[in-house]
Amino acid sequence: MRKPFVAGNWKMNTDSSSSVGLAEGIASGVTETAGTKATVAVFPPFIYLQSVIKALGTSSISVGAQDVYFEPDGAFTGEISTSMLKDIGCTYCLCGHSERRHVIGETDELINRKLGAAIAGGLLPVLCVGELLAEREASKTNDVVTRQLKNGLAGLSEEKVSAVTIAYEPVWAIGTGLTATPQQAQEVHDFIRKLLAGMYSDELAGGIRIQYGGSAKPDNAAELMTQPDIDGLLVGGASLKADGFLAIIKGAI
Ligand code: PEP
Repeated sequence: MRKPFVAGNWKMNTDSSSSVGLAEGIASGVTETAGTKATVAVFPPFIYLQSVIKALGTSSISVGAQDVYFEPDGAFTGEISTSMLKDIGCTYCLCGHSERRHVIGETDELINRKLGAAIAGGLLPVLCVGELLAEREASKTNDVVTRQLKNGLAGLSEEKVSAVTIAYEPVWAIGTGLTATPQQAQEVHDFIRKLLAGMYSDELAGGIRIQYGGSAKPDNAAELMTQPDIDGLLVGGASLKADGFLAIIKGAI
């Protein structure tokens, strides 16, 4: 039985005061039941990680970074390492979010190095994969997802991959208000799980959590979560208001 995993990606939003306010709002609204039934995490901007961790206090909510660099330390201006993130209390990190792939220009190879470093350093990575609209329209969704998964996980043992969560995020649904239908999402989630079974084992594929991301909202969370292979939600815009994010968590459990 896979525990639902609901995460809020705050992207480059909030400021020092609103990030703390948002964290406090989520922490005070997460009921004990929700905290037990689901894994809940937030991914604030790097600069607010420490204050958000403090604001979350003893709540069950975990914190992750939106990115990580693969080198442990040294002359890498502007980058943040796994050990720095662990040092301040982060549990998770995103790897290969579509905005990093398509806006910043990250390659599968770079994402693979980041993912490997995150696991080696004890962070739990969320590997984001998903196709562009033109790729879906050209019936290339499965090819894209296969390439991103195989390259993203290259060289990692089954044991290491068991630390990973996959987020299927069709790029055309991110921040656009367009949500994949539960059936469209389920089709790709099922494909991903079968692909992982072939790459590793049925046991690995049966245990790994696959989140859906792309305009998830309070009014579609529960329906998306009815699908057998949707194990959680990675939420962008709708995670920026505590009430909305709490409603999504409620819908997911
Ligand atoms: C995301 O940032 O991962 C995301 C899914 O964004 P949104 O929910 O705004 O589409």
